[in-house]
Amino acid sequence: MDANATTPLLPEVVEAMRPYWIERFGNASSIHLDGQQAHAVVDRSRATLAEFFNCHDAEVVFNSGGTEGDNTAIIGLLRPGDHFVTTSIEHSAVLAAAERAAEHGVETTFVAPGASGLIEPAEIQRALRPETRLISVMLANNETGVLQPVEEIGKIAKAAGVFLHIDAVQGAGKVPLDVRRFGCHLCSISAHKMHGPKGVGAMFVRRGTPVESLLVGGSHERRRRAGTENVPGIVGLAKATELAMRSLEEGTMERLAVLRDRLEAGILELSGTGVNGGWDRERLVSRVANTTNIWFDHLEGEALVIALDLKGVAVSGGSACHSGATEPSHVLMAMGLDKTRARASLRFSLLKTAIEADVDYVLKVVPEAVEHLRAISPVAAGTAGMAG
Ligand code: PLP
Repeated sequence: MDANATTPLLPEVVEAMRPYWIERFGNASSIHLDGQQAHAVVDRSRATLAEFFNCHDAEVVFNSGGTEGDNTAIIGLLRPGDHFVTTSIEHSAVLAAAERAAEHGVETTFVAPGASGLIEPAEIQRALRPETRLISVMLANNETGVLQPVEEIGKIAKAAGVFLHIDAVQGAGKVPLDVRRFGCHLCSISAHKMHGPKGVGAMFVRRGTPVESLLVGGSHERRRRAGTENVPGIVGLAKATELAMRSLEEGTMERLAVLRDRLEAGILELSGTGVNGGWDRERLVSRVANTTNIWFDHLEGEALVIALDLKGVAVSGGSACHSGATEPSHVLMAMGLDKTRARASLRFSLLKTAIEADVDYVLKVVPEAVEHLRAISPVAAGTAGMAG
């Protein structure tokens, strides 16, 4: 139930990678046959990624994952005096890069979402200034799963002559990617969120986008990212991408949405619970199929994470990168939740391999754990006697 933190490699991915560690271990920059074989498989992998992004092969840059992509887009494109527009619900890889850019004279405007977790394109428009050079928006939020209106934001960026980066780490493999339709210049993805290996990813860089590499050295990746190519990792990313495209076509996400909805409805039968994001007063907001974020009144989210862990159910309170920190989720706070409710919220994110029995089990253990914790919780005791 924590697929948004990471996913296991599918067996086909492991099989595809295996030879590139042992028999075919060549360096893709070497001239001899071993090197040529490595170079050829990197090229074939690039073609798969180009199909996934809907771009030219030459517009795909392999890197170490989502953090590097996000950092590169921001630190590699912005110059002193530039203005940057992003949102207050981005991953820390974007938020911390904005802090680094600030040290170099870049001012950032953080656009807040509505209570539904959705960023309004009009708010992005409003944030633009004559000196704005870049907008960075995520495709899907890692904590709520809310899909952002990237296409509309792409139109705004185009009209204003501003570069657009999309952090598609949590959307890739869950909804179709199409960088032309999104109208973006840069787009980051990460293999380990889509059943590929950790520490490898890719970035779409539209031809002519003046983004500087964070790493300098050799002339790898057309001088856009120095460092010997992680050939097994790239092969694993390409295989995971191929499988993701196939499973999107085969309706895996529709199946997953049914499971997620059943899980959500089952948990909401408990009193004092509700969903964070995904709806507002007037309309339903789209979410990726595997994610739901739920608040539980009268208990500590952390305690529930531990209780469920003891029952073999892995969930996350906020994002995995922040676990251990006691600060409530910046995403939920930006959506207007108070600290207590933000702390009492959990993210359930299903693996695409999840089955009915997984949901049955979770629906058995969650009510037991919630009941138990509420019975002993000082949070609940402190509110005893209040309505409900
Ligand atoms: N962006 C988003 C939305 C994420 O959820 C994550 C990972 O949690 C990242 C970026 C960072 O990706 P990586 O783990 O590949 O560095």
